[in-house]
Amino acid sequence: MRRSYMAGNWKMNNTRSEALALVKELLDNGSFKNKVLIAPSYTALDAVSKAVEGTELILGAQNMSTDESGAHTGEISPVMLKDLGVEVVILGHSERRAIYGETDKIINIKVHLALKHKLDVIFCVGETLDEREGGLAEKIVTDQVVEGLKGISEDQLSAITIAYEPVWAIGTGKTATPEDADDIHKVIRTKIENIFSKNAADNVIIQYGGSVKPANVKELMAKPNIDGALVGGAALKAETFIPIMEYNK
Ligand code: PEP
Repeated sequence: MRRSYMAGNWKMNNTRSEALALVKELLDNGSFKNKVLIAPSYTALDAVSKAVEGTELILGAQNMSTDESGAHTGEISPVMLKDLGVEVVILGHSERRAIYGETDKIINIKVHLALKHKLDVIFCVGETLDEREGGLAEKIVTDQVVEGLKGISEDQLSAITIAYEPVWAIGTGKTATPEDADDIHKVIRTKIENIFSKNAADNVIIQYGGSVKPANVKELMAKPNIDGALVGGAALKAETFIPIMEYNK
């Protein structure tokens, strides 16, 4: 059985003291039957790493460089993330794709590099509103899965969680209907079966992301192919993240 996995992407929010206050609330008031991750911004990683040490809260980063070291001004390498105690990195988020021009090829390089450095990956895919309205959602998502996971072995796949995040649902308050989301999750799972195996497809965790909140988590998670959530806005407050992270299928 797949263990539910709830992840909070804090994006460019929270100073170190705000991050520590939120972590304290999550640890004091939350429970951890599900796998739970938080991804603070780079500047709070060190402080949060110390605060979550020895707890069940998993530390993630929101991005990383395509390279290990060298002349890459402003970038952060997987070696640096590991040094801070980071266990997981989010790659291919639609904001990285749309605002910072990250292509499937760049994301694929990052996936390989993260795995080389024993970082688990939350690998994001999702279509834009135009693509959905043009009937292209399945094709776009499938292509992103194929290209982003190119050259990955079935063994390595166990370190990868896939997050389906329809771009039009991120930060907009619009959520895909549970049925629409589950349909795409099923498409992704079938693609994983085609590329790898039935066993890989049965075991891969596929999160849904896009305006997940306490009020809609139950109906989304009830769907057979939805195994967790990648949460933005609602992850910034304990009162909205705790009901999500504690949700039981
Ligand atoms: C996200 O950024 O991954 C996300 C899903 O954001 P929100 O929950 O705010 O839509």
